[in-house]
Amino acid sequence: MVAAKFKFEGKKISVRKLEKIWRSLTTKTFPNGKIRAFILDNREIERIWREMEGSGRIVAFDDDGNIIPPNENTGATITIVTYPNGTTGWLILIKKNSFCSIEENLKHELNHMINGEIMLDRSINLKRK
Ligand SMILES: [Zn+2]
Repeated sequence: MVAAKFKFEGKKISVRKLEKIWRSLTTKTFPNGKIRAFILDNREIERIWREMEGSGRIVAFDDDGNIIPPNENTGATITIVTYPNGTTGWLILIKKNSFCSIEENLKHELNHMINGEIMLDRSINLKRK
Protein backbone atom coordinates (compact mmCIF):
# COMPACT_ATOMS: atom_id res chain seq x y z
CA MET A 1 0.00 0.00 0.00
CA VAL A 2 1.24 3.42 -0.90
CA ALA A 3 1.34 5.83 1.99
CA ALA A 4 -0.47 9.05 1.30
CA LYS A 5 -0.94 12.19 3.29
CA PHE A 6 -4.26 13.93 3.52
CA LYS A 7 -4.99 17.42 4.66
CA PHE A 8 -8.50 18.61 5.18
CA GLU A 9 -10.53 21.22 6.95
CA GLY A 10 -13.37 20.09 9.13
CA LYS A 11 -15.08 20.46 12.45
CA LYS A 12 -13.81 17.94 14.98
CA ILE A 13 -16.40 16.01 16.96
CA SER A 14 -15.49 15.94 20.63
CA VAL A 15 -14.22 12.76 22.24
CA ARG A 16 -16.91 13.25 24.87
CA LYS A 17 -19.63 13.02 22.23
CA LEU A 18 -18.01 10.01 20.54
CA GLU A 19 -17.72 8.22 23.86
CA LYS A 20 -21.32 9.00 24.79
CA ILE A 21 -22.63 7.53 21.54
CA TRP A 22 -20.27 4.54 21.86
CA ARG A 23 -21.63 3.81 25.34
CA SER A 24 -25.21 3.95 24.03
CA LEU A 25 -24.32 1.16 21.57
CA THR A 26 -22.09 -1.24 23.48
CA THR A 27 -20.49 -2.19 26.80
CA LYS A 28 -17.16 -2.73 25.02
CA THR A 29 -14.32 -0.47 26.13
CA PHE A 30 -14.15 2.82 24.28
CA PRO A 31 -10.88 2.89 22.31
CA ASN A 32 -9.70 6.16 23.79
CA GLY A 33 -7.31 8.11 21.60
CA LYS A 34 -8.00 5.88 18.61
CA ILE A 35 -11.06 7.47 17.05
CA ARG A 36 -11.23 10.82 15.35
CA ALA A 37 -14.31 12.13 13.66
CA PHE A 38 -14.88 15.25 11.64
CA ILE A 39 -17.72 16.99 9.87
CA LEU A 40 -16.73 18.34 6.47
CA ASP A 41 -18.38 20.55 3.89
CA ASN A 42 -19.64 18.68 0.82
CA ARG A 43 -16.99 19.88 -1.57
CA GLU A 44 -14.19 19.26 0.90
CA ILE A 45 -15.34 15.74 1.78
CA GLU A 46 -15.85 14.77 -1.85
CA ARG A 47 -12.35 16.03 -2.65
CA ILE A 48 -10.77 14.03 0.18
CA TRP A 49 -12.74 10.89 -0.74
CA ARG A 50 -11.49 11.14 -4.32
CA GLU A 51 -7.91 11.48 -3.06
CA MET A 52 -8.28 8.55 -0.69
CA GLU A 53 -9.78 6.40 -3.39
CA GLY A 54 -6.88 7.29 -5.66
CA SER A 55 -4.45 6.12 -2.97
CA GLY A 56 -6.03 2.66 -2.98
CA ARG A 57 -7.48 2.92 0.49
CA ILE A 58 -10.78 1.34 1.34
CA VAL A 59 -13.01 4.08 2.58
CA ALA A 60 -16.58 2.85 2.62
CA PHE A 61 -18.86 -0.10 2.39
CA ASP A 62 -22.47 -0.22 1.47
CA ASP A 63 -25.17 -1.92 3.50
CA ASP A 64 -24.72 -5.18 1.59
CA GLY A 65 -21.08 -5.33 2.63
CA ASN A 66 -19.63 -4.36 -0.72
CA ILE A 67 -16.59 -2.14 -0.64
CA ILE A 68 -17.42 0.96 -2.60
CA PRO A 69 -15.89 4.27 -3.46
CA PRO A 70 -17.90 6.99 -1.77
CA ASN A 71 -20.16 8.95 -4.09
CA GLU A 72 -22.44 11.95 -3.78
CA ASN A 73 -25.00 9.86 -1.86
CA THR A 74 -22.51 8.74 0.80
CA GLY A 75 -23.10 10.38 4.17
CA ALA A 76 -20.06 9.17 6.06
CA THR A 77 -17.03 6.93 5.84
CA ILE A 78 -14.73 5.14 8.24
CA THR A 79 -11.17 4.18 7.48
CA ILE A 80 -7.91 3.31 9.21
CA VAL A 81 -5.25 5.98 9.15
CA THR A 82 -2.07 6.99 10.90
CA TYR A 83 -2.65 10.22 12.78
CA PRO A 84 -0.06 12.99 12.72
CA ASN A 85 1.13 11.80 16.18
CA GLY A 86 1.98 8.37 14.73
CA THR A 87 -0.92 6.49 16.30
CA THR A 88 -2.94 4.16 14.08
CA GLY A 89 -6.64 4.68 14.53
CA TRP A 90 -10.03 5.08 12.97
CA LEU A 91 -10.99 8.16 11.04
CA ILE A 92 -14.66 8.96 10.53
CA LEU A 93 -15.59 11.62 8.01
CA ILE A 94 -19.16 12.89 7.94
CA LYS A 95 -20.65 15.03 5.24
CA LYS A 96 -22.21 18.18 6.61
CA ASN A 97 -25.25 17.95 4.33
CA SER A 98 -25.82 14.23 4.77
CA PHE A 99 -29.42 12.99 4.55
CA CYS A 100 -28.91 11.41 7.99
CA SER A 101 -28.11 13.28 11.18
CA ILE A 102 -24.58 13.48 12.58
CA GLU A 103 -25.63 11.09 15.37
CA GLU A 104 -27.09 8.54 12.96
CA ASN A 105 -23.95 8.65 10.85
CA LEU A 106 -21.74 8.28 13.92
CA LYS A 107 -23.77 5.33 15.20
CA HIS A 108 -23.54 3.64 11.81
CA GLU A 109 -19.76 4.05 11.57
CA LEU A 110 -19.08 3.21 15.23
CA ASN A 111 -21.09 0.01 14.77
CA HIS A 112 -18.62 -1.06 12.07
CA MET A 113 -15.91 -0.81 14.75
CA ILE A 114 -17.96 -2.44 17.49
CA ASN A 115 -18.84 -5.35 15.20
CA GLY A 116 -15.16 -5.84 14.36
CA GLU A 117 -15.74 -5.08 10.71
CA ILE A 118 -12.86 -2.68 10.25
CA MET A 119 -9.78 -3.49 12.26
CA LEU A 120 -6.66 -1.51 13.12
CA ASP A 121 -4.48 -3.97 11.20
CA ARG A 122 -6.48 -2.71 8.19
CA SER A 123 -8.33 -5.97 7.73
CA ILE A 124 -11.95 -5.80 6.70
CA ASN A 125 -14.20 -8.42 8.19
CA LEU A 126 -17.77 -7.84 7.20
CA LYS A 127 -20.31 -9.94 8.99
CA ARG A 128 -23.68 -9.56 7.43
CA LYS A 129 -26.91 -10.80 8.88
ZN1 LIG B 1 -21.31 1.53 6.64
